[in-house]
Amino acid sequence: MNTAVMALQAMLRARGKTVVVVNGTFDAVTSNAMWAAWRAGDLNAADPTMVAARAEVCGAFGPNRSPGPWDGLAGQTILLGGKSLPLPPDVPLWVVPYNLHQLKHGLRQQTIVQAILHHDAAGSAEQCFRVLKARGLSTHFAVDDCGLVLQFLDPLVNVAWHAMGEVRREDGSSIEHGFNFRSIGIDLSNPVDPATAAGRADAGRELVTQKIHGRDLTRLDFYACQEEAGLALLKVLHARIPSLGTSYRPDAVWKGDLTRNTPGIFGHYHVAKGKIDPFGFPMNRLAEVAAGTW
Ligand SMILES: [Zn+2]
Repeated sequence: MNTAVMALQAMLRARGKTVVVVNGTFDAVTSNAMWAAWRAGDLNAADPTMVAARAEVCGAFGPNRSPGPWDGLAGQTILLGGKSLPLPPDVPLWVVPYNLHQLKHGLRQQTIVQAILHHDAAGSAEQCFRVLKARGLSTHFAVDDCGLVLQFLDPLVNVAWHAMGEVRREDGSSIEHGFNFRSIGIDLSNPVDPATAAGRADAGRELVTQKIHGRDLTRLDFYACQEEAGLALLKVLHARIPSLGTSYRPDAVWKGDLTRNTPGIFGHYHVAKGKIDPFGFPMNRLAEVAAGTW
């Protein structure tokens, strides 16, 4: 992602909105609020960084652009329990339904107590969708590079196949659907591997080192707006689904003590020994979810 886009994100964030640009390459629609700001000249048009950003955005989203799947969607609702519920106006979060219910899923029969965070090892939330579809897997939400949240499934109605985990049965036998039945899956887009990202729009991600399962790993970080959007999404989900636990673990270590019934917000690496996702996500900030008022 280039600096112009980062500047644009910062400015819109200052207005209380997470930026709505998909894929770092502007191949989807921006928010109505953002368009209003552009049109009103409310953003500092004289700033050279903004001039560049504006040219780039308008090139992709101008009046002659072709219709996209997000056209006409306000982005200020979230689908829960079959209802499209409005997000509080002060929530810096944009959620758009994307190919709803097209990924493999089950029927939710148990109370939600967990959220499990992942990175998608993909180049965008849209690519994440395609990969999941091809593999017969799913997740409820995907947080794109610019903080836009794509909703694939309704967490109160659908079970997603996102975290097999490593759960043994009482008799010590095999692993079965681990952590899916009582959890919400959230995938934050990040190719993670610097080699994969080379030459792409998101190659500008910073490298970050994190200790996972006791080993220091260096990989690509999330963008700040993705972290903010992920936290905002969790706050909204907790407010709407009070059974969702808010306990969390600051360290990325698999201890083998969690079960599908343990309330809280976990990383995939907490529930599956072989996983390193969501690499780089600041678990300590999950304290903000319990403190949230939404
Ligand atoms: Zn995962």
